[in-house]
Amino acid sequence: MTNVDLFETETAILARASQVVAGGESDPTRYRLALEELITSYGRLLRESRRLIARSDRTERELNQLNSKLTQLSDELDYKAKHDNLTGALNRGAVFERAHHYLTKSPLSLIVLDIDFFKRINDEFGHPTGDGVIRELVNRLRLALDGKGEVGRVGGEEFTVLLPGVMLGDAAIVAEKIRQSIAQQEFACLPTRPVTASFGVSWIGLNGDFEDAYARADAALYKAKHGGRNRVERDSQALVD
Ligand code: GH3
Ligand code: MG
Ligand code: MG
Repeated sequence: MTNVDLFETETAILARASQVVAGGESDPTRYRLALEELITSYGRLLRESRRLIARSDRTERELNQLNSKLTQLSDELDYKAKHDNLTGALNRGAVFERAHHYLTKSPLSLIVLDIDFFKRINDEFGHPTGDGVIRELVNRLRLALDGKGEVGRVGGEEFTVLLPGVMLGDAAIVAEKIRQSIAQQEFACLPTRPVTASFGVSWIGLNGDFEDAYARADAALYKAKHGGRNRVERDSQALVD
């Protein structure tokens, strides 16, 4: 690429004026002409500079807008990657990620729950009603938790609650409260039929193995199902209450 001198005209005008001054010119007309040329050129430079500054301000504003749009899109993508879009609960991957994170700071209780005979609800009332039950159940979980713990949807009709810093006995009390809030009030989308869920609860110490705690909560859930459903069972291997 050749180097183009953007100020070729102005440089020439400046050189001519310098020559007039340096040459000790006695004709005032030559001074006046050189000055007029300088005034015109200086005025043009000022106008051009103002135009460029305005354009660069506009470009900066546009870049800032694009930047905040990108940040917003990236936040939305991050949210979608971590949440279930039916309920807004954490998805399975995010539950495990959060649990691992919590466990670096404190012990953790885990509640796993599964809707009882959900297949029958789908079969009798249709999939959209089933979806409505799932959504309403997650709302009830949130209400019962009252800001404590984090709700996850780890399977179609299987959910978790992470309770950092909560001991097993207290987590079982929370699970019982949730169980009652589901079983004791009718669902708006399914008023003709009770909905119940079964619960398994486990506890894991600081820096402990979450996968193992999950398997123990799942085993307790299995016990609750086989014990008649609509009940809470604690991890039978738990050493801490
Ligand atoms: P159990 O008491 O032993 O848990 O019986 P269940 O009928 O609840 O369990 P099962 O695993 O046999 O059935 C779960 C059903 O959940 C099967 C599947 O069609 C349904 N399901 C999974 N995901 C969704 C979903 O997103 N929406 C709806 N409506 N149904 C779902
Ligand atoms: Mg089920
Ligand atoms: Mg299930």
